[in-house]
Amino acid sequence: MIDTHAHLNFQAFKKDYAQVIERNFNNGLKAVINIGSNLETSKKAVEISQEFENCFSAIGLHPIHVKDEYFNKKKFSLLIKENKNKVKAIGETGLDFYHNQDSKELQKKIFCQHIELAQEYNLPIVLHCRGSKEEPNNAYLELLEIIKNLKQIPQGVIHCFSADWPIAQEFLNLGFYIGFTGPITFKNATLELLQVVEKSPLDRILLETDCPFLSPEPYRGQRNEPVYVRFIAQKISEIKNISFDQVVDQTTKNAKKLFRI
Ligand SMILES: [Zn+2]
Repeated sequence: MIDTHAHLNFQAFKKDYAQVIERNFNNGLKAVINIGSNLETSKKAVEISQEFENCFSAIGLHPIHVKDEYFNKKKFSLLIKENKNKVKAIGETGLDFYHNQDSKELQKKIFCQHIELAQEYNLPIVLHCRGSKEEPNNAYLELLEIIKNLKQIPQGVIHCFSADWPIAQEFLNLGFYIGFTGPITFKNATLELLQVVEKSPLDRILLETDCPFLSPEPYRGQRNEPVYVRFIAQKISEIKNISFDQVVDQTTKNAKKLFRI
């Protein structure tokens, strides 16, 4: 079991991330990738990955933070150069029109800078995408448009997927992995989302928690942690009618392949 999208680098784990890591690794977790959301949390993600075996990191500026700081490509580059063994992806980056509609153009510009950085260092990208309340698909469609127009399509994952099957198919056709999180376990999960789980090929799925957020059932509402990817794996196995072990084995292989860990 690998949690490919965690934030043990966030404030919620400031006091006890070391204990959480130890406890989780003793309970079946094999590896974790902590994802940065700005320069500071990216540095922290790298720091944690240097501190523990089987902890890795992704670095980037989250679209909801593009208004708070500029994308300091030099500093992010340096972080990669100095920690080549541990920085395994660029992100999270992408578009978020849910929290931030007025920074659309800035988000797009900074997303493209992340793509450049990823290509410079030959790293995959971790995509964050969230549409507006009125049009939940809009950010996904615009993100696809940008990616399709790139000279070279990057490798990566569309994290916490929450759109419909036609959109998932487009990402799959471009070579992306689909990341599933707690919401697929929620009692009010939409049929549309469950259909994406059912139809996505197992060799293109990644397990992720997005902890401390989005705790899966039965822990919804509490602080999430990496080892809870087991509930995501469990739900996928139920939807696809295959064994839990099969889901864990294949998604572990997928994570190792994409992130080269
Ligand atoms: Zn995240």
